[in-house]
Amino acid sequence: MIFHLSLLNWYDVHCRRLPWRALPGQHSEPYHVWLSEIMLQQTTVSVVIPYFHRFCARWPTISDLAGAPLDDILREWAGLGYYARARNLHACARRIVVEYGGVFPATEAELLQLPGIGPYTAAAISAIAFERQSVVVDGNIERIMARLNAVETPLPRARSELRRQAATLTPPRRGGDYAQALMDLGAQICRPKSPRCQECPVQSHCTAQQLGKQTHYPVRAARKARPVRYGRIYWLQRGDGKVLLRRRKLEGLLGGMMEFPSSDWNTQQTLSHAQAPARIRWRKLPAEIRHVFSHFELRLSVYKGRLETGALIVPSSYLWAAQSAIAAEALPSVMRKVLEKCAPQ
Ligand code: SF4
Repeated sequence: MIFHLSLLNWYDVHCRRLPWRALPGQHSEPYHVWLSEIMLQQTTVSVVIPYFHRFCARWPTISDLAGAPLDDILREWAGLGYYARARNLHACARRIVVEYGGVFPATEAELLQLPGIGPYTAAAISAIAFERQSVVVDGNIERIMARLNAVETPLPRARSELRRQAATLTPPRRGGDYAQALMDLGAQICRPKSPRCQECPVQSHCTAQQLGKQTHYPVRAARKARPVRYGRIYWLQRGDGKVLLRRRKLEGLLGGMMEFPSSDWNTQQTLSHAQAPARIRWRKLPAEIRHVFSHFELRLSVYKGRLETGALIVPSSYLWAAQSAIAAEALPSVMRKVLEKCAPQ
């Protein structure tokens, strides 16, 4: 049977029921498709589902989201990571309301002009929400293509080759179901470590399976080790129990999120308290906090201190927060680790 028919027949029976998805053959809501695709970047389906429900309950339409304060969006996003996505989500919602009257554009070219929408997301929205014949290729689909064709070129160099192969297989109709069928195949059957080839609807098309070398593909170039950065982070409590927080700059890593004051994060260990928020006696906690970002690993030494007397003059980007209110702030995951370590149990 033709590749796409085998896949679609399987999808019609076995598709995952996901809250942002229409059933096979039905139309999806573009707002839901977009929201889920942005959330799913770098995150798993099971993590995204509760976030998706919360966002839709609080902001049922794109106009509601566009009208929300960025801070509220960052708070709801906390824990999903890669916070530039949340800022772009907000910026994109505003552009769609202002430039398109709140109606999503359907073409990849128009979608690509919007904040936070790259080639994969543009293709996915255009296929799933508008049934376009877009070629949707993410990491899962690259793996399937590499296995189907036993591609020996290592990733990331193989990307254009895998994309060409994906393009030749994409059917002119049912673009959304086809894209989602490939996503489901990657998640449920053609899994990275233990593919379930006996249940695979496209087994007869698969060269890797015929060679018995499924997990050899996709071939990857050796990865460079992540560099390590170090810093000191400070839990400063004043007499009334409130703790000092500050907002990060809008641009850059974790932009606009709240954090505990810290030194710069450098490749060398920080040896002094020169960047501490107050000149007091600091007590170092025994274990450091480690957090992995996409391009470096962060190791933070944690210091606790108490401001017994006198007021501390702090810039306007700082605030004193009641300890019971800190968890509700827009804290990224690394700062939640600090909170867990420092807050009294
Ligand atoms: Fe993946 Fe196995 Fe199907 Fe090939 S036969 S596409 S390796 S699940």
